[in-house]
Amino acid sequence: MSNAIPLAKPSLSEVERQAVLDVLRSPVLASGPRVEQFAKSVAELSQRNSGIPCSSGTAGLTLVLAALGIGAGDKVVVPAFGFVAMANAVWSLGATPLFADCDPRTLNVDLNSVAKLLELKPRAVLAAETFGNPAGMPELEALCAAHEIPLVEDACEGIGGRISGRPVGGFGRASVFGFYPNKQITTGEGGVIVTDDTRLAERCRSLANHGRGEDGSTFVRPGWNFRLDEMSGALGNAQLSRLDEILDQREAVAAQYTARLSGNIELVLPSVEKASRPSWFAYCVRLTGRWNATVRDEVIQAMAGHEISCAKYFPSIPQTPAWQGRCEPNANNTPVANSISGRTIALPFYAGLSSQEIDLVCQSLELMIERATFRHRASPTDQVDGIEPS
Ligand SMILES: *Cc1c(COP(=O)(O)O)cnc(C)c1O
Repeated sequence: MSNAIPLAKPSLSEVERQAVLDVLRSPVLASGPRVEQFAKSVAELSQRNSGIPCSSGTAGLTLVLAALGIGAGDKVVVPAFGFVAMANAVWSLGATPLFADCDPRTLNVDLNSVAKLLELKPRAVLAAETFGNPAGMPELEALCAAHEIPLVEDACEGIGGRISGRPVGGFGRASVFGFYPNKQITTGEGGVIVTDDTRLAERCRSLANHGRGEDGSTFVRPGWNFRLDEMSGALGNAQLSRLDEILDQREAVAAQYTARLSGNIELVLPSVEKASRPSWFAYCVRLTGRWNATVRDEVIQAMAGHEISCAKYFPSIPQTPAWQGRCEPNANNTPVANSISGRTIALPFYAGLSSQEIDLVCQSLELMIERATFRHRASPTDQVDGIEPS
């Protein structure tokens, strides 16, 4: 067996294996009772009335935006620093993303940046709990409510998190969870939309099922097949039964990383707000503003040479080849996202990462940073980081 340390790994037990095998002995393989139970449980966890299963987090975002009536010519605010699924969902409907800059401390959208973009009359605001940190979500919800613009919470990275006594998945008009295998819990591919808006829920359900009406046989609108299958539903139910255990293990890994790396003056570590419980999706550090993407890339490459997988989470979306030159003029001023995205390093992170492995990752990381920064010591960049290292 190899000693390689992967970036992410799902936490699967005999419970999950048995649940999926049971489906293969049942008559229903596509959407059925297990899928419905799973969506209902996710809605309960989010304190929402309705849960709609769907085939991925991206499918869920697309369904909610479509159900809100968003289409060609509309604008939607999305984070510049975040996963491309948000911008892609907007694009797939023929709408245009307006990229909001990020808060350098929380890595979630900067409220001032969003407030400015609201002047351009977007039809919705999409925002996520970056790496599982719910900081700022209540304030963002209030801002959107004051402007009567629907907030769609992309809760894909935040399941089980809480802030100000409220669960992630409970903010805005509707929220979307995703269950790709690098998330806290997985269904393989899969997603769930949750909302208290019964009509919106019905529309999402119909759009995900070829536009069928409630009778199941009339096609009342054009739609997609964005359904979830029973193997995924069974896996999801089993994973949900172990959610607390998995989140506790991930929190313990995060605490060990923080304890081990907090003395390093070249690194900015994840921050946790007082009134919140993050749900750790990734443990992402960044080099201070003295260094640039060249140094960061050398560190990641050197780690890979030692079979330790790290990732560049996330590129600033407006700077990716997909969006360069295609962004709305006079929006998309995202200097913080642009600067930070060149310096981030997501470390191997999953439930069950051992203390020895954490030690090895940290030791290697510190050595690789020392070497890379020494090589580039004559050319520090002194970019604006927004905050000082702790
Ligand atoms: C994972 C993720 C998604 C959805 O991903 P899928 O692979 O489509 O399930 C969407 N938004 C964010 C922020 C994510 O992290």
